[in-house]
Amino acid sequence: MDECIFCKIIKGEIPSNKVYENKNFFAFLDIGPVNKGHTLVIPKKHYKNLLDMPEEELKGYMETIQKVSNAVKKGVNAEGISINMSNESAAGQVVMHAHFHLIPRFKDDGLRLWPQGRYKEGEADKIKDKITNCLESSN
Ligand code: AMP
Ligand code: ZN
Repeated sequence: MDECIFCKIIKGEIPSNKVYENKNFFAFLDIGPVNKGHTLVIPKKHYKNLLDMPEEELKGYMETIQKVSNAVKKGVNAEGISINMSNESAAGQVVMHAHFHLIPRFKDDGLRLWPQGRYKEGEADKIKDKITNCLESSN
């Protein structure tokens, strides 16, 4: 993807604060940190998001995320890490190259990731059925 900003970062055409890389993945500081140390972990191959990544990439991706999360947590003396990924623009994805956000967390840092709602009577059961039907048809 010639115009993809994260592909350019991997190639070194755009500068970044790289924290880690291995054969298939690359981690660097987010330019607009939610908390200091906020890091993005991306595959070196261009995929739009998690939904189009091949299964064989996923084990290495999660191992890299765990490794970098431990380093970020220790490096900035965080008390926890929130790991977040937006898939598709409706979910808030702005850069269309797969990326997990590793966000260092501190007690009382005031971050509220999302408000929660409630199901009406019988609604959760219907929604659960719609999802499980899709899983059955994808097997
Ligand atoms: P998302 O909204 O999940 O697509 O997140 C995209 C993230 O990429 C945002 O948090 C941006 O701050 C970050 N970002 C965009 N451009 C750069 C860049 N050149 N270097 C580092 N982070 C970037
Ligand atoms: Zn890309």
